Amino acid sequence: MKKIALIGCTGSIGRQVLDVVRSHREAFGISALVCGNDRAKLHALAEEFHPQIALCAADGHTMSESLFEDCDIAFIAAGGFAGLFYTLAAIGAGKKIALANKESLVVGGELVMAEAKRKGVEIVPVDSEHSALFQALGFRRDAPFERLVLTASGGPFLHHTKEQLARVTAAEALAHPTWKMGPKVTVDCATLLNKGYEIIEAHWLYGADFSRITAVIHPESIVHSLVYFQDGAAIAQLGYPDMRVPIQLALTYPDRLPCAPMLDLAQLQTLHFGRLPEEKFPCFGLALEAGKRGGNAPAVLNGAAEEAVRAFLAGDISFPRIAETIESALAHVPQAAAQTYADLAEADRRGRGAARKCIYGK
Ligand code: MG
Repeated sequence: MKKIALIGCTGSIGRQVLDVVRSHREAFGISALVCGNDRAKLHALAEEFHPQIALCAADGHTMSESLFEDCDIAFIAAGGFAGLFYTLAAIGAGKKIALANKESLVVGGELVMAEAKRKGVEIVPVDSEHSALFQALGFRRDAPFERLVLTASGGPFLHHTKEQLARVTAAEALAHPTWKMGPKVTVDCATLLNKGYEIIEAHWLYGADFSRITAVIHPESIVHSLVYFQDGAAIAQLGYPDMRVPIQLALTYPDRLPCAPMLDLAQLQTLHFGRLPEEKFPCFGLALEAGKRGGNAPAVLNGAAEEAVRAFLAGDISFPRIAETIESALAHVPQAAAQTYADLAEADRRGRGAARKCIYGK
């Protein structure tokens, strides 16, 4: 039996990890549960799964010496910059990581990959696109490829004009056409910031230069990503949009267990693809630019994005102001190296401060 330390157990991904555990009680157990602030839910989950450790980050119990001690896999499903802390702690404990937290690689890719290499820790991707790439590479990170192509649903506003985008509401942004996710990542899908993040993640996970990673619009979210090889062959992974598949595979690979319904292509009939409309969604380019710049830039970008999305969901700013806020923060915080967690936390703090100044004028 594989024992899992699950960080972010009450969020969208965390709940689906526990669904997978419920479906295969013989294969998986839970050694630790950590939630952000939902104590009641944590208590109920602890009663059901009997972990040795159950912590609520809001109580200040962000860390315990033994959090990762008894696990085989550290499943990092916490959202936002906070996830980086746990990813680094799991690497420090020398445990295999199933990584669903995007910010760990977006913000801390250089540090995380260097530390993982130093400690011999394996990082298995959970995001559907990166899991698809891993599968298309035959689970070989060193397989030679020409190009990585990430698919993007385009979110709920793909066909909106700039004038329409200026008037969209939080409720409209939260209605994703194909995936059910937490509020921050759902808004990031609507701005396409998320697709920029996923290109940065692919850059770190597969050691690919940014020039070899692209994104293509695919509204149905059936083809989850593709790898192109030098002979012109392209290998893709397909399936209905269901996060339990990449979640379960991260726990079992290279083996597979029953999980989701099989694709019915005759019933689907048609799949669509198209160019990503970068000019309408500036967050995509801003993320890529910060990823290429490196140093503190991705942490500044992400800190500003977390503040801007919070303000948008609160009704304080319009949808286009999310990108303007991020751009302003990147312009106001000087570029600097960021080699430690403390450097990244400082850049995160400065990005948030610059965003709040842009939004609220103080
Ligand atoms: Mg994704």
